[in-house]
Amino acid sequence: MILRTDTMSEITDRFVIEVGSGTVAHIIDMDATQTETESRFSLGPDVAGKKMCSRGYRDIRFQQVPVSDFMAHHDIDKEGFEGDAPDEICSYCWSNTIKAAGTDQSRADEDVSEKIGTVGYRLRWKQKGRAHDEWYDIVVRPETTLAELDRLVCRFTTLDDFHLRMYSLEDEYLDSSLNVLPDHQYKEAGDRSYTKASDMAVGNVAERARLWEGDRLSLVYDFGTPSRYYCLVKSVYEPDQLDDVLTDNDVITSTETAAIIREKRP
Ligand SMILES: [Zn+2]
Repeated sequence: MILRTDTMSEITDRFVIEVGSGTVAHIIDMDATQTETESRFSLGPDVAGKKMCSRGYRDIRFQQVPVSDFMAHHDIDKEGFEGDAPDEICSYCWSNTIKAAGTDQSRADEDVSEKIGTVGYRLRWKQKGRAHDEWYDIVVRPETTLAELDRLVCRFTTLDDFHLRMYSLEDEYLDSSLNVLPDHQYKEAGDRSYTKASDMAVGNVAERARLWEGDRLSLVYDFGTPSRYYCLVKSVYEPDQLDDVLTDNDVITSTETAAIIREKRP
């Protein structure tokens, strides 16, 4: 059985961004070769790979850069080919690449459905507005509670017990709030529509959100002027892989079932 861990890195290895003379950059599929017709009509020496749209032209002098470098350079807050095309990249190439990479339909995969709730995740937490300067990878098991996750998130934030914090499934916490409160705040709130953080496990959240690679969760605090941290699901781990990942010597800090395994600090 093929595990879909690191699918995104395979996809971003396959495609590169070509920066040419136009206002937008195009995407090149390095696994594909040009058809005979295309190379017959192209001028000059052959260029590697195949452009994902039929617009513009190619030139051997155009520079090819890795997708991640291009995204970082332009401060594009995406982990790969997802959602709408950024302004800097040709939208035809973008949507064709999403189709080619099959990222849209990956979720239809029945294997995935069966696994949700039993797998662990590597969640890359960032703060909105400074996503490239600082991030923390937290590995969670399905049984990791949101209380535990919250403890690890608070390690690298300035959040303390006085901050009301709420986790949600997407960007807009009002529409997608998990209605989970830190335990001590749950007691104060006395509102049964909320769940105590220690009563909600990552596996429950995963089942509710059908959480998989590329998805995001967010954490909103300071509700007057909402600020947020958010995370992207970077990898999915089978249960038997989790022990290895979590007991690695390089773990930065851990709780009973979860750990911060990597970080980038300014
Ligand atoms: Zn294009």
